[in-house]
Amino acid sequence: MTQILLDDWQTPFGLPPFAEIADDQFAPAVDAALAQGRAAIAAIADTPEPPTFANTIEALELADGKLGQVLGVFYTLAGSDSNPAREALQRDFSPLLSAYGSEITANAALFARIEALWQARETLDLTEEQQRVLMLTRRSFVRQGADLEGYAKDRLAVVKQRLAVLGTQFAQNLLADERSWFMELAEGDLEGLPDFVVATARAAGKEKGAKGPAITLSRSLIVPFLQFSPRRDLRQIAYEAWVARGANGGDTDNRDIAGEILALRAERADLLGYDSFAEYKLETEMAGTPAAVRALLMQVWEPAVAAAEADSTRLTAMMHGDGANGDLEPWDWRFYSEKRRVAEHDLDEAALKPYLQLARMIEAAFACSTRLFGLEFETLDVPMYHPDARAWNVTRNGEHIAVFIGDYFARGSKRSGAWCSALRSQQKLAGDIRPHVINVCNFAKPDEGEPALLSYDDARTLFHEFGHALHQMLSDVTYESISGTSVARDFVELPSQLYEHWLEVPEVLGEFATHATTGKPMPKDMLDRLLAASTYDMGFSTVEYVASALVDLSFHDGEPPADPMLRQDELLAELGMPRAIRMRHATPHFAHIFAGDGYSSGYYSYMWSEVMDADAFAAFGEAGGPFDPEMAKALQTHILSAGGSRDAAELYTAFRGRMPGVEALLKGRGLLTAA
Ligand SMILES: [Zn+2]
Repeated sequence: MTQILLDDWQTPFGLPPFAEIADDQFAPAVDAALAQGRAAIAAIADTPEPPTFANTIEALELADGKLGQVLGVFYTLAGSDSNPAREALQRDFSPLLSAYGSEITANAALFARIEALWQARETLDLTEEQQRVLMLTRRSFVRQGADLEGYAKDRLAVVKQRLAVLGTQFAQNLLADERSWFMELAEGDLEGLPDFVVATARAAGKEKGAKGPAITLSRSLIVPFLQFSPRRDLRQIAYEAWVARGANGGDTDNRDIAGEILALRAERADLLGYDSFAEYKLETEMAGTPAAVRALLMQVWEPAVAAAEADSTRLTAMMHGDGANGDLEPWDWRFYSEKRRVAEHDLDEAALKPYLQLARMIEAAFACSTRLFGLEFETLDVPMYHPDARAWNVTRNGEHIAVFIGDYFARGSKRSGAWCSALRSQQKLAGDIRPHVINVCNFAKPDEGEPALLSYDDARTLFHEFGHALHQMLSDVTYESISGTSVARDFVELPSQLYEHWLEVPEVLGEFATHATTGKPMPKDMLDRLLAASTYDMGFSTVEYVASALVDLSFHDGEPPADPMLRQDELLAELGMPRAIRMRHATPHFAHIFAGDGYSSGYYSYMWSEVMDADAFAAFGEAGGPFDPEMAKALQTHILSAGGSRDAAELYTAFRGRMPGVEALLKGRGLLTAA
């Protein structure tokens, strides 16, 4: 069995020799890399030498080098070009890797060395970056329970195990409720629905074994149905079924599960010495404390409610004009809001599309980074893992900075969505390692000889992912564990969401949004409508989102509620939730926070990032404009090159001179006038 995956690759830029890698090489390579990692960890833990930063922390940084190399290739292929063999491998690797991770944090001898270094940190003469890596390493061990003993240690293991079971059950119940409900439609009930909704409803009916078309609880069908169906009675039935997911009684009811999860999380935090689960979760985030999160959300809440109430009055009048009586209900909002959008902001998508060519939008993303950071891009002819993946050599003043790979077209073997990943991250500990960064998207592939065209959302996605890529490519740190995008969850979307703003710069669209056949720039009227449409109905979407984020925070901050549904209702009443808007995700189907703990006390983070990107882009406006060289330099120095080398709040403050304020976000969402 060849071990090519474990070799030091003698290829251009050290890129993986994709052509020589076969699927059956992955399992033995992962086994071998895990064995190497285990041997390296044991050597660190068991050495008779007293602990030093080099023989412990740096050695730990380097212990998994080969594993990272193998998995970098594997997860690139599994995500963007999968097949049954790769799917099976993915299922096999997941428990192996999680067991390996737990083994390391449970290694008492290893933790004792880290703890000894931590206690002696003042005397070790460490650089600022080394102090940070030591702090982060110790903290991740402690958060896993490495310094617990006896009852607390055993109980933590039981609590974590039970939480894992409950999280899975919550997700499965939700799925069961979503799958079991559907509403058959008669042909006449399809009136008013656009073709794509009719087609989706017919396909759904067929899948459910119904006689005709059907509405299901899948977001991609029910939301457009609520938007377009003029049948108020049917909208109500569908809406009520949609918001009852996870709260239908019987075996699939999630309400008690939510209560038990919250109690166990509070206990977990208590065992680890935190005041609440929110305190535990937010310790690693930029926001830092529940109070900071609440303060931000409340600043946005007030103007959002004001805007939503004003919109509600408009929509109610439209509804009464239609001859429907009474109050605007939650199942009416999307329908009248869509009617209003068409009247005020309609964009002809078909006329817009030829102006957004993929090739020109890639050029635009590159050109902005040339003006801002001096980066240059040259096509590379190297073997890739798929013919649609393209590579560029990224340089500055002739010096190699990174390899950038763009894999833009949808295909059956690619998972949905868009993402940025690295085959190799920047670091200096193992030599001057420059990154290999990939952007993966799912844009429609054109017919042979036709230009690839994007929607405006697609173009934003392209800029978004390129922003993440810049965070990786411009990284300039010593240690891989804090390189590039290895930062707090509520900070990682800053570079990506910030970069989207350059697409909105009129001179960028003016230069690069040229018509595929005529070559003419986009007409001004179209450009204006395009930019205005992005803030439409922001009162509604901000209210439904912030309400969910505030409920999430309240559940995890302080005593866990005995009855989460009651706590939710009390909180919404206190906040003055507008009657025709409900939470984007109510408790019994709030999978972000209950199906695993990824976003628990963290649902706010989408808005936190948006506050920062709006505020950060405003800084360019306050200086010399979107390409102000001083601001670009500050952004590069303090954010794009810095990785996780300092606390996120410190990095932001270094860039901006202060912490972010909400004004720019409110302005961007069109909520400022309503305040
Ligand atoms: Zn992102």
